[in-house]
Amino acid sequence: MTSVMRPLPWHWAEFERLLPAPSRELAHALLLRGPRGVGKLDFARALAAALLCETPARDRTACGLCQSCNWLRAGSHPDYRELQPVRAGESGLEANDERRASSSITIDPIRALADFVNISSHRGGAKVILIHPGEALNPNAANALLKSLEEPPAGTHFVLATHRPHQLLPTIRSRCLQIGLPAPTHACASAWLEAEGVSEPQLALAHSGGAPLLARELAGGAYWARRSAFLRILTLSELDIVSAGEALRDFSIAEVLGWLQKWSYDLARLQAHGSVRYNPDYRSELDRASARADRLAVLRFTRETVRLQAIAQHPLNARLFIEDLLLAYQDVFRSEARS
Ligand SMILES: [Zn+2]
Repeated sequence: MTSVMRPLPWHWAEFERLLPAPSRELAHALLLRGPRGVGKLDFARALAAALLCETPARDRTACGLCQSCNWLRAGSHPDYRELQPVRAGESGLEANDERRASSSITIDPIRALADFVNISSHRGGAKVILIHPGEALNPNAANALLKSLEEPPAGTHFVLATHRPHQLLPTIRSRCLQIGLPAPTHACASAWLEAEGVSEPQLALAHSGGAPLLARELAGGAYWARRSAFLRILTLSELDIVSAGEALRDFSIAEVLGWLQKWSYDLARLQAHGSVRYNPDYRSELDRASARADRLAVLRFTRETVRLQAIAQHPLNARLFIEDLLLAYQDVFRSEARS
C-alpha cells in the first residue's frame, strides 16, 4: 500500500460521488473502468482507505493517522486484502523481468478470500477486497469469485479495477456497480507530471498515449536510454538483422514489441493524417521512413505487432523473436512484398 490516501486530482468528482454516507450504503461490489495508467489503483486504494479509516477527515477521505490508516500504509491491515498478479517490477517496464512475472490471478488467493469474507472484521468496521486488474482473474478464479460476490456480509466491499471490462465474466460485471474513471485532459496531465518532477512531460505523455501514471513510470530508470538505443538501430540506413539481434538480445521482448508497435502506428498515422502520436521526438526519422514505406504493409505490420502482444508475455527465444520482428519490419519498405 502506498501512502496515497486520496485519488488523483482528476478523479476527485467521481470519488466524492461515491464516498459513502455510512459505508453500508455503498454497493458491495464496485467495478472501476478506465484506460491503463490513469489512476484506477490509486482510486481504489483511496476508497479502501476511506472505508476502513476510523476517524475520516471532514471531506470523508482517510485521515492518514489512525490505527487503520497506519496498518494500511504498512501493508498489514487485517480487514484489507489486495490481489494483483505478480508483475514485472511495479511497472512492467523493467527489462528482462517478464519471465518471473505471472499475468494472472489464480484460484488459490480467491479461495482464501472465502474465509476472510466470512469471519467478522477485526476492527468492527468495514472489510475491503481490492482486485487489480480484474481481467487478470483466470477462469477458475473468476468463477470462485462469483460465489463470494453473490451475497457478502454487510460491510464487506469488493473493489475491482479493470482496463478491459469486456474480458470479465458478464456475471461478474452484472454484480458490480460500474464506475468510469477517465483519463485527465492533456493540460491537467502535463501539469501533474511537471509537479511530479518528470523532466519531459510532453514527450512522456505522448509516448504513453495520454496516461499520466505510465508517463511517470517512463521517467524513472533507463527507459529512455533503452528506447534511444533501440530506435538508433531501427533507423539505421542499413539495418543488419544479425547484428541488430545481437545488440538487442538482452532487451525485453515486450518492450521492443511495444516500441515497434508505437513506431509503426506513427508511420501509418503519418501516411494517413500527416501527424504522429507516440514518437514526436523522432518526427524527421519517421517522415523519412514513411516516405519509403508501403502503406498497406505498414498497416499489416502494425496489426501483427498488436497480435504478437499475447505471445510476448510468454517465455520464448528473445533473440529469434526480435530478429523475426525486425525482418517483418524491413518488409514494409519492400515494394515486392506487396500483394
Ligand atoms: Zn484513518
